Amino acid sequence: MFFDFLTIFPEFFGSPLREGIVRRALNEGKIQVGVHNIRDFATDRHRMTDDRPFGGGEGMVLKPEPLAACLKSARKAGIHSRVVLLSPAGPRFDQQGAERLAGYDQLILVCGRYEGVDERFRTLYVDEELSIGDYVLTGGELAALVIMDTVIRLLPNVLGCGESAANDSFSCGLLKHRQYTRPRVFEGMGVPEVLLSGDHAAVARHRLLEAVELTLHRRPDLLATIAFTPAERKVLRQAGLLARVDAAAGGGASGERRES
Ligand code: SAM
Repeated sequence: MFFDFLTIFPEFFGSPLREGIVRRALNEGKIQVGVHNIRDFATDRHRMTDDRPFGGGEGMVLKPEPLAACLKSARKAGIHSRVVLLSPAGPRFDQQGAERLAGYDQLILVCGRYEGVDERFRTLYVDEELSIGDYVLTGGELAALVIMDTVIRLLPNVLGCGESAANDSFSCGLLKHRQYTRPRVFEGMGVPEVLLSGDHAAVARHRLLEAVELTLHRRPDLLATIAFTPAERKVLRQAGLLARVDAAAGGGASGERRES
């Protein structure tokens, strides 16, 4: 998959591309990343990428011509590409959004700065706007990296064995259960006995209940989208959680799904 960033601050992408899973995916050719400097496409004497807003007001606006030229140069012909503008005005990016974007061959991520981009560029060239949350960043670079990072984890064979996106928070609908590692006792605190028992069924049961309790406590809204298997519902009933789960799901939206 190709990820192409359009930015006036190309240096921003240095270390995020040199670390961890992103670096491994790059080295193994699972992804290819292009960082395109919008300034390289400015044609005036001063290579200006921004200008004052018509109508007055504070700040500067990214000019449409360098953005459009940069985009045309980044777009690869003959593949399924998507142009995403990072913007606080876009719909909120989430795990479902990441799964959808992972279906494209190329994501072109346009990073705004200052007061944002000229509206005509957005209208003519942008497929969708995305926000990463209800707050304002100084630029779209961090948001674009968040999107790339999230999408990469979903691509085939990017996560190594032992790493899986399928059981992550949100992917299975629940927040993920808590995790423990050595030592067995840390500052007087032990770990739940069941995790040391070697009883895989008991561990799975414990983790399901912990995930459900955490989700009930922190994000009950998520429960409306989950369909538990009959076996999971039995575990929840035995633990006295089923009624709360069904109530949070809005009276039974957490109906049964078949065992896989
Ligand atoms: N004046 C704009 C407003 O009030 O909506 C904010 C512009 S912001 C300082 C500059 C750029 O940062 C935006 O064009 C966008 O690309 C990016 N940005 C800021 N907050 C963002 C967010 N929550 N999600 C995605 N991109 C964001």
